[in-house]
Amino acid sequence: MALYKYSIPSKLIDENGIRVDKRKYNELRPLSCKIGVLPKCDGSAYVEMGGNKVLAGVFGPRKVAPRHIMNPNEAVVRTMYRMATFSVDERKSPAPSRREVELSMVIRTALEPAVFVSYYPKTLIDIFIQVLAADGGTRCASINAASLALADAGIALKDLVTAVAVGKVGGKIVLDLCDLEDKEGDADLPMAMMPQNNEVTLLQFDGNMSKAEFMEAINLGMFGIKQIYKVQQDAIRAKFKDISEGVAESEIEEERELENEREKERARVGKREGEGESDD
Ligand code: ADP
Repeated sequence: MALYKYSIPSKLIDENGIRVDKRKYNELRPLSCKIGVLPKCDGSAYVEMGGNKVLAGVFGPRKVAPRHIMNPNEAVVRTMYRMATFSVDERKSPAPSRREVELSMVIRTALEPAVFVSYYPKTLIDIFIQVLAADGGTRCASINAASLALADAGIALKDLVTAVAVGKVGGKIVLDLCDLEDKEGDADLPMAMMPQNNEVTLLQFDGNMSKAEFMEAINLGMFGIKQIYKVQQDAIRAKFKDISEGVAESEIEEERELENEREKERARVGKREGEGESDD
């Protein structure tokens, strides 16, 4: 039993529309994304979304094991989502729970439409996700991290997959639910999209909403996804900016060395010509 546990406030949203963590209804939690964080993987990413801290590592396309899961026409995408024992208030059992097995499948179905699986027949793409800290919406943070890890692995993708959970708290539709809103709110709607063409790859729903509220939630989710997508793209650019700056520096260094060589050669030729003239 935890020594300290947060108390549940009487209202999840106040009369001015301010939520338990001081956000407005349409505000995302602080978000940061980084790729190429695990040296042993073909691709990796680390995402912080509010209090969620998620690591994703990708191996592949690689040899299929066990062989009986091989598909002769396309790559098999395998996903494993796990929460660390220390990721929640009370120690989570290290044994995989039914929830983790189910979320592994949910995350895979959200990611798979983005992968050009037919480019990689008879191979396996393994996606491993570790939630280091959980704060509501871990499946969405995991999808965001895993799609970045796939991109980092150089796997051909139609687009990144971007996810957020929208919901209803205190009768209001709100963006990016935190743990308390997820648990105590009226409805939870995790969604994932390939933002370039607004293609939905995941839409789950738990709770009560009217049709109008549902449409409002989808629009609010898309508003959040556009912002998250930009942060994901910036994470990819940041890695390749470092590489391109490195390339530019080495090119300048090479040019400098070549110029030194040319200078020496000119000096040698000049000296030889000078010696030839003095012989005459
Ligand atoms: P998601 O994390 O995608 O919202 P759930 O709705 O199943 O998935 O979980 C909601 C939140 O409940 C999680 O983000 C996490 O903060 C918390 N949670 C999940 N599993 C546990 C657990 N075993 N113990 C304590 N908290 C948990």
